[in-house]
Amino acid sequence: MADGSAALTATRTACPYCGVGCGVIGATAAGARAVAISGDEAHPANHGRLCSKGTALGATVSLAGRLLEPTIQGRSASWDEATALVARRFRETIARHGPDSVAFYVSGQLLTEDYYVANKLMKGFIGSGNIDTNSRLCMASAVVAHKQAFGADLVPGCYEDLDLANLVVFSGHNAAWTHPVLFRRMEAAKARGQKHVVIDPRRTDTAEGADLHLALAPQSDVRLWNGLLADLIRRGAVDMDFLRDHVDGYAAVITSLAEDDQSPAAVAADCGLALADLQTFFDLFAAHPRTVSLFSMGANQSAQGVAKGLAIINAHLATGRIGKPGACPFSITGQPNAMGGRETGGMANTLAGHMDFSPEERDRVARFWGAPNTARAPGLKAIDMFEAVRDGRIKALWVMATNPAVSLPASGAVREALERCPFVVVSDCVETDTTAFADVKLPALAWGEKDGTVTNSERRISRQRTLFPPPGQARADWRIIAEVARAMGFDGFGWPHAASVFREWARLTAYENKGRLLNLEGLTRLDPQAYDALEPVQWPVDTEGRGRARLFEDGRFQTANGRARLVPVRPRGPAEATSDKFPMALNTGRIRDQWHTMTRTGLAPDLCRHAPEPYVEVHPDDARAVGLTEGALARVMTTRAEAVAVAKLSDRQRRGSLFMPMHWTDAFAPAGRANALVAPMTDPSSGQPEFKHTPARIGAYRET
Ligand code: SF4
Repeated sequence: MADGSAALTATRTACPYCGVGCGVIGATAAGARAVAISGDEAHPANHGRLCSKGTALGATVSLAGRLLEPTIQGRSASWDEATALVARRFRETIARHGPDSVAFYVSGQLLTEDYYVANKLMKGFIGSGNIDTNSRLCMASAVVAHKQAFGADLVPGCYEDLDLANLVVFSGHNAAWTHPVLFRRMEAAKARGQKHVVIDPRRTDTAEGADLHLALAPQSDVRLWNGLLADLIRRGAVDMDFLRDHVDGYAAVITSLAEDDQSPAAVAADCGLALADLQTFFDLFAAHPRTVSLFSMGANQSAQGVAKGLAIINAHLATGRIGKPGACPFSITGQPNAMGGRETGGMANTLAGHMDFSPEERDRVARFWGAPNTARAPGLKAIDMFEAVRDGRIKALWVMATNPAVSLPASGAVREALERCPFVVVSDCVETDTTAFADVKLPALAWGEKDGTVTNSERRISRQRTLFPPPGQARADWRIIAEVARAMGFDGFGWPHAASVFREWARLTAYENKGRLLNLEGLTRLDPQAYDALEPVQWPVDTEGRGRARLFEDGRFQTANGRARLVPVRPRGPAEATSDKFPMALNTGRIRDQWHTMTRTGLAPDLCRHAPEPYVEVHPDDARAVGLTEGALARVMTTRAEAVAVAKLSDRQRRGSLFMPMHWTDAFAPAGRANALVAPMTDPSSGQPEFKHTPARIGAYRET
């Protein structure tokens, strides 16, 4: 430029963190590894807004800690050598022990193209269902609830519904911290008169400004939502016309509700709530037909996660609050592409394109791929998968873009499994706690280098675009997997670019579709230029390329008879109850300014200021009882492990409960790894772990 400064190129891309899926503009100068970040005003998810994490993206793009070349047992290797070794070890293991002796553990950080190729290799050509994703930890329970109620994993609403609702119920969802840009949007609606109810044992930032906070007893959500439904029935506030025309199961739900005392006094007592607060919630829900009920980790990360989702959906189906502006149950995903993984079959219990393992659907996928060996049964879900690694049933494991040595429950046992596994491959952009266990490390592209698509919580497909050239020898995940597939001798993995992978994926959704809503018909012919220019669009995408914001507006669902299902659910206690030895309930979760295991956000000084060290939040009365003071080191113990963290005394915490953030790793604070404490108990249908309730005890830390 005339003033001597380098000309900047502005690139529209998407944030790599949460499921809001904000549009980001990155301004880069040729040859410089730096980017100025701003929000994309034209992106419908955020209209230019960004939260602290999105704003700090520019501080996370350095090459510190990056994997830049393939390695085998710690020594440098060429791509050819590493690819050949991975292919040979997987082939030999399969030949000797069968296809279920190998597994992929993948991630909601992968792009849709990566997910599609990984799933095609494992389910289509290796012939095993053993591919599962860390999204199992995030929204697997909501997936099962959607399938049971709607006939497929379909998110009915859109972000516009959050603007249009008169009442928003946050059920186990601290949106102010976990989905900040959406929360700002609802704060603006609140200023226009929208009411907010928060159902959460903790008084979170979301609860602070709410019209009503129900600090219910941990794991009493099903009791609360069933109580609401019984109250709506008593008042005559259910929509009998909608039930008659569009919903099955009403009689069964009434019978089931009658098995518990549904009087408000009994419900309030079981949920640990004041009767007047419970009554206020019931009144608000009855009075506002335009209600959105958001649910997230507090609902899903539970041994009753599916039942919680269904109880929420039941209240909406019974009142006809679905498929209408400002009215829906709304599961918000944690990761940027949790939805893309659900679509492409990244979960062990589904095939690509929302297909199940029924002979008819399995054959449809197998025909499309020309893969007669396609898996005929679901594979192992995350917790079971690592158990199978530990006991030797799985002998070759490939971990892609995730850090299970920190993030999975009972992560000590996960490390033992990785240690014992005869062959571990890790493809990632950075060194992590998990790469320490890898026989082969494969360098993958990071955000800013990747090129592909992600799908956010409202089914909106956005492009992640390239800001920088690939560093070192790093490659796109889809290409790494495709090269291994070819080296294993499989056809059908020869795509020249990401656009061609996407096109094949879109064609699969449209192939013999027969009315399924997951249909990308209008995107099946994108050439590389059109793919590059793709504007954010919500599926289903019609032949003209138009998306659809809201599902079920015609009252037709994806079940065989087109009717939704009310599914009776009964309240149950947590998987492991508290005891005299472990009298408190430990809840682990996210904080505002960190993401997962801090591999990226840990690089941004501004983000590390919010909570610089591992902490445990405890009610002052509970702290006093064990001699803990503010800022002192606390020891948190469970049946699985113990951790050390700084005590934060707060009456935001219910008596008898503890909260610990889950982010810290070996690199930052090994003694503070929260998920090492968590028992690997899961919801029996969804396999989602119960991160929100592990029996624990707390005491002052004394050095021995
Ligand atoms: Fe990124 Fe989520 Fe923040 Fe948006 S709200 S900028 S997607 S972390």
